[in-house]
Amino acid sequence: MTASTKLSAATTFEVHNPADGELTGVYPVHTRAEVDAAVAAAHPAGTWWAAPGFAERARLLDAWRGEIARDRAGLAELIHVEMGKPVPDAKLEIAMALEHLRWAARHAERVLGRRSVRPSLLTANHAASVEYRPYGVVGVIGPWNYPVFTPLGSLSFALAAGNAVVFKPSEYTPGVGLRLAQAFARVVPEQPVFQVVTGLGETGNALCRSAVGKIGFTGSTATGKRVMAACAENLTPLLMECGGKDALIVDADADLEAAADAAVWGGLSNAGQTCLAVERVYVHTSVYERFVTELVARARAIEAGTPGSKIGPITMPKQVDIIRRHIEDALARGARLLLGGTAGIRGQFVQPTILADVPEDAAAITEETFGPTLTVTRVRDMDEAVELVNAGSYGLGSTVFARRDGERIAARLRAGGTSINAFVAHATIPTLPLGGVGGSGFGRVHGPDGLKEFAYAKSTTRQRFPSPLPLTTFRRTERIDAVVDTLVAVLHGRARR
Ligand code: NDP
Repeated sequence: MTASTKLSAATTFEVHNPADGELTGVYPVHTRAEVDAAVAAAHPAGTWWAAPGFAERARLLDAWRGEIARDRAGLAELIHVEMGKPVPDAKLEIAMALEHLRWAARHAERVLGRRSVRPSLLTANHAASVEYRPYGVVGVIGPWNYPVFTPLGSLSFALAAGNAVVFKPSEYTPGVGLRLAQAFARVVPEQPVFQVVTGLGETGNALCRSAVGKIGFTGSTATGKRVMAACAENLTPLLMECGGKDALIVDADADLEAAADAAVWGGLSNAGQTCLAVERVYVHTSVYERFVTELVARARAIEAGTPGSKIGPITMPKQVDIIRRHIEDALARGARLLLGGTAGIRGQFVQPTILADVPEDAAAITEETFGPTLTVTRVRDMDEAVELVNAGSYGLGSTVFARRDGERIAARLRAGGTSINAFVAHATIPTLPLGGVGGSGFGRVHGPDGLKEFAYAKSTTRQRFPSPLPLTTFRRTERIDAVVDTLVAVLHGRARR
């Protein structure tokens, strides 16, 4: 469905403002047949979009970037209304997303374009080249927590690589998804290169089972497993950007004020509803008390649900129960409440909560909380910090505050990225890939890896002259076999430990 197409879905769903419950929009639930029709229309559109090459696509993607940038105030307001984050944070999210869009458009040809490679000694009679070709149509499934930044991490790169896209936004932020597609359609009105299908989980499932060449999924690990099972039906390859339980480590020589500032922003911004949110903090025992004092003082200044508040409501009503359960479970198991707690929960507003002495096997340490909560744990040294951080099943991002050993600690962390002496920098630098390991998924958005994610490698050779040693033929003689045998002995047989 292009953003402008008349829709004929049998049923609809409502979107409500999480701050006050007001109805913000009604959208169609697209059926499997409608999703299949959108994907079918996308195939010729993808061929059309791929044809003119990288330079023309870059020009059009730049124009799309301009459309989104000029619409930033309205788009940010819509993000605020649909999922609750403050408008300035929504604008920041848009700004970051546009940086990656620009990078993808400008670098696609260099990363994906055809380049010659050297053959080996035995194959020296061939010219060889590799290029990265689009899949045709890519299905993108996105979450609501960063409804511009996160899907654009797939959409921008899939489009720059020459694919058409069919995007299924979260049921909480369909309006944002449609607005992105409308901006694209103003720049590319000729063909349905970027379509949006709306609906609930079933619509996403239909997209996974449709004739797309690849799925770019961002969402929870639990849904990711369902997506993977559905993609298995057609052996559809997929990118999995899933949940996290990121940690921040504070070493003995860290700048404690900067570390506390990063922990508060990393843990509480967007009401903690960030895949890369700091949910756990591990602090060297020698600076633990001072750090905790800094942390609590800063977090105390943040309040949810007040006019001009720096954090908004919890977007999904059911998430409030999970946050409550994690806090109650930690306290029941001996944790100390340093700030907030369940008493401060009013409707979908949760106040900043800091827990100390939480057992390492408590849900507040092992499961994604996705709320404005932090655990803060004393460690005897950085070996213990690394061990505890790596013990989790997720491996998305991580943060280290240390003056001397930052890089050494970072190198030992099992995560898709680590930012030293700053929170989340690795997700904002366009040249760097973003993604996770373990329960946080696989594949990468952003940077060269993010472009290659939405293209397949195509190798081509051209024989320049007949080989003096024809190998792949029944005309191969015993003399040639003997020469090859000698070559193997010389080239490979001397390799030893
Ligand atoms: P969900 O897993 O609930 O949903 C993600 C998307 O999948 C939504 O569009 C959802 O649709 C869709 N979906 C649901 N069921 C199915 C299904 N059976 N088949 C196909 N698609 C389906 O995640 P949230 O939207 O709640 O997002 C929060 C999660 O996303 C957190 O775990 C967070 O950590 C993660 N995330 C990861 C990021 C990363 O870069 N690694 C970035 C941002 C978020 P619907 O909304 O209609 O149910």
